[in-house]
Amino acid sequence: MHVTTRGIVLREAAYKESDKILTILTPDLGRITAQAHGCRKKGSGLSSASQMLVWSEMTLSEFRGRWTLTEAAVELEFRQLRRDLEKLALGSYFAEVLEGIVQEDSQPEELLPLLLNCLYALDQTDKPLSQVKAAFEVRCMTLSGFAPMLDGCAVCGKNPPEQPRLNLTQGVLHCADCGAKTGEGISMPLSPGVLAALVHLVNCPGRRLLSFRLDEAGLEQLGQVSEAYLLTQTERGYRTLDYYKRLRLPLSK
Ligand SMILES: [Zn+2]
Repeated sequence: MHVTTRGIVLREAAYKESDKILTILTPDLGRITAQAHGCRKKGSGLSSASQMLVWSEMTLSEFRGRWTLTEAAVELEFRQLRRDLEKLALGSYFAEVLEGIVQEDSQPEELLPLLLNCLYALDQTDKPLSQVKAAFEVRCMTLSGFAPMLDGCAVCGKNPPEQPRLNLTQGVLHCADCGAKTGEGISMPLSPGVLAALVHLVNCPGRRLLSFRLDEAGLEQLGQVSEAYLLTQTERGYRTLDYYKRLRLPLSK
């Protein structure tokens, strides 16, 4: 069976002498694993398309449940992102998250445009990395069925809650004083601006995702909450996130 589709490489691993095994996210086939024969040879027509975070039109063939990438034409290479170690690390984290969330052979639906939009923002705009990261994390959880419930305190109903906090395990808001009744899990405080940004990230149309403003302190708080929320909800860590955070540490003197 031959299929022509578009796809982005979420992960690449060298295989045999000159091949790669690729994890590819496609709108039609979902997440698939495919072998790219000879793509590490000089002059291979598959070499560009077989790199992490490259979006291409691809022809794939399937035989006994195994996919092979046979032809590819690169459409988006995200070259600026690729030249910047921090941006590449952040993009790799987005890829690792999606690889975990989208099951083999299931449709990525809105998660694929989310990834492409966030990579585009890193590549072509000067939005702070922390803003793109938080937007991706909150929206990714929302699209995967783990949207936080942000319409008032889950205990007393007050909207907005008094000194609002987000319970990371339950995914609900509550007032600081109502906290004991929300059940288990850590809660993190939200400033009014950060709460407004969260509401925006959960509800806005996709193309408006990054059109919110927060000062540096707000972005920092939003980033702590969005990251902790994603890690809690997906119940795992990400090696690419650890790497990104190591890169962002101030250089020791
Ligand atoms: Zn309350």
